[in-house]
Amino acid sequence: MSVELLGKSAEELREYVASLGERPFRAAQLYHALYAERRFEFAAMTNLPAALRQRLASVEGGRITPPRIVRRFPSADGSIRYLFSIGGENEKPAQIEAVFMPREGRQTICISTQAGCAVDCHFCLTAQLGLIRNLTAGEIVGQVLVALEENREQLAPQTNVVLMGQGEPLLNYDATMAAVRILLDPKGVALAPRHVTLSTSGIVPGIERLGKEKIRPSLAISLNASSDEQRNSLMPINRKYPLDVLLDACQKYPLRPREYFTFEYVLLGGVNDTPEDARRVVRLIAHIRAKVNLIPWNPGNLPYRAPAAESIEEFQRILVEKGVPTFVRYSRGQDVFAACGQLALMETPSPLVALQ
Ligand code: SF4
Repeated sequence: MSVELLGKSAEELREYVASLGERPFRAAQLYHALYAERRFEFAAMTNLPAALRQRLASVEGGRITPPRIVRRFPSADGSIRYLFSIGGENEKPAQIEAVFMPREGRQTICISTQAGCAVDCHFCLTAQLGLIRNLTAGEIVGQVLVALEENREQLAPQTNVVLMGQGEPLLNYDATMAAVRILLDPKGVALAPRHVTLSTSGIVPGIERLGKEKIRPSLAISLNASSDEQRNSLMPINRKYPLDVLLDACQKYPLRPREYFTFEYVLLGGVNDTPEDARRVVRLIAHIRAKVNLIPWNPGNLPYRAPAAESIEEFQRILVEKGVPTFVRYSRGQDVFAACGQLALMETPSPLVALQ
């Protein structure tokens, strides 16, 4: 039976190549072709000898299964949302999503780490799917490779990757980190650690584990509330890891020089967007080197409303005045359902589709 190669580390490819009786430098060539050159067909790996390419492509050889594009949803703002189908020989089929967002001088790719999610944040449509399954390292890194390859002609010099699509990355820790290591490897996809951001709902053991990694991405925490009561009602995970436990883990996290935490704060009109909320946020993160991204809610299918423009401005002003770097981020691709998880629900046959 053939072996899936996408997602394998340099070391795993060395073992694989050794099992074929080939010399170790062939593994480095294969790794380069897969991740630096984004070759998904053995025939296109022209850095390998023809005989080895043929052997790899044989039934007994290897296989490369990148996520398959089911649909593309281009947005008026230039973003493209991809609905991918994953799974195959050994993995349960599922659909996930990623978004490619071009900007001046760079592109940002938002990817998924799980199909569905078990965390149950109340403002998130993915939560309504429940957890379908964890993605493999190959399915995670494959989303980046396919999005880059698809947009090959218009790529800017810098690529940012955000792990903010479907799923809680720290609840699929090993596969997520295996993918991140390939993304950050100068011989792999070669992205800079500050350009890869892992966003978590606040899984404290995962944050502690990440702090011990030699190679790791930047960390963003989805805060979204200014008190335990409020956070419990928006993000039930807060009952397991309440704010004092979460923020204590952030304070102990070994930030590198010039490294900042990012706190993501979705502003829900009339829920968590008052000046008092802003002042409480300032107090909560006072001892943490952090910046805050305010994300005004996209009105959609859930019972929340967008914050008023004045509330957004006032919230930002209060944080900035207290010395917290604060930015307002409007989520892109709004006309193609770019809010977390919405596309998956549109395409997944389930009673929840009625919400659309
Ligand atoms: S916001 Fe993220 S962690 Fe929360 S339910 Fe949605 S996908 Fe899961």
